Amino acid sequence: MNKINVVRPSMPPIEEYVEEIKSIWENRWLTHTGPKHQELERALPAWLGAKCVSLFCNGHMALEAAFSQFPAGSEVITTPFTFASTTVAIVRCGLVPVFCDIESEHYTMDPNQIEPLITEKTVAIAPIHVYGNLCNWRRIQEIAGRYKLKVIYDAAHAFGVWDGDIGVGALGDLSMFSFHATKVFHTIEGGGLAYANPQLSRKFAAWRQFGMFDGEQSEIIGTNAKLTEFAAAMGLCGLRHLEEEIKLRQLAVQRYRERLTGQKGLVLCAEQPGVHSNYAYMPIQIQSKLFGCDRDTVALRMAKQEIYVRKYFYPLTSEFPVCQERFFVQKTPIASDISERIVCLPLYAGLTAEDVDRVCDSLLACRS
Ligand SMILES: *Cc1c(COP(=O)(O)O)cnc(C)c1O
Repeated sequence: MNKINVVRPSMPPIEEYVEEIKSIWENRWLTHTGPKHQELERALPAWLGAKCVSLFCNGHMALEAAFSQFPAGSEVITTPFTFASTTVAIVRCGLVPVFCDIESEHYTMDPNQIEPLITEKTVAIAPIHVYGNLCNWRRIQEIAGRYKLKVIYDAAHAFGVWDGDIGVGALGDLSMFSFHATKVFHTIEGGGLAYANPQLSRKFAAWRQFGMFDGEQSEIIGTNAKLTEFAAAMGLCGLRHLEEEIKLRQLAVQRYRERLTGQKGLVLCAEQPGVHSNYAYMPIQIQSKLFGCDRDTVALRMAKQEIYVRKYFYPLTSEFPVCQERFFVQKTPIASDISERIVCLPLYAGLTAEDVDRVCDSLLACRS
């Protein structure tokens, strides 16, 4: 039996990648906004429904570029049910994370809990489209508008998600995308910011190049966060296969739903009406009493059969020592509860129906 990992990076046929990088040998332009970088920056807005996209060396640095616009000490309302990066980016930019609870259905920020957290120091709301589930963006926008706050989405999971004809990259002031190897679309390592205001492009280009606008001196405090031409070339290849890959993911998710819907003690994430999903993850909650086995035991037993699930997201970022030691951390009971029960099952393009059956058989066998 071969092992089944929770994710498997997509790769184009090797000949296609070699063809794509040949021109790099001709022009010797390896990094710093080369032709591949420019081509990818031009191609991405259409996929995201955004006006502009700026590229970075990874998603995390894109988040730091977004948060670095605020004065140190300002507060950012976010949720702790996310990958480390969201909270760490806020903290590294000298800002204070204020933790809002999530909704129990799609695990995104609960708009009803935002307003009591707003103070005179609040500058932004930073919600996360977890697992590709869209946040309740209309309500969030309405609140942000009333209090004149910026909205910065962590859309790392949501590449290619559309709400009707509105692309995820059109939401809020800025949306961050991760192009890490394990994401639905990737450039090996890489990331981007999507936004509507074209004047920001120059600023982000300077920020990722030591804060230099004209190449002589730093005018803002930037860093080195450039995407290489080899990474951009991988992205250009990936875009050609993306639609068919999302189809394959969808088939795997359908098979999971057929096998697991209605099983006692398992809670699947409901599909969002009207939303075109990217089928990025397959999260399920395991209610240990009803199911007859708890989440951690399930993960251990499945690993014995070389099936690797991931406790994603556990623990909450608000429980990290770096938060506990530095900040007053708000209680988020729903997020705490779900993080104890959640697990992501293997999902990637190329996971066959037989693979899904093996995962489901192994999961369901934990009951006895
Ligand atoms: C992957 C991810 C990031 C960070 O992206 P990198 O490209 O790995 O730096 C941030 N937030 C979430 C929710 C992620 O899943």
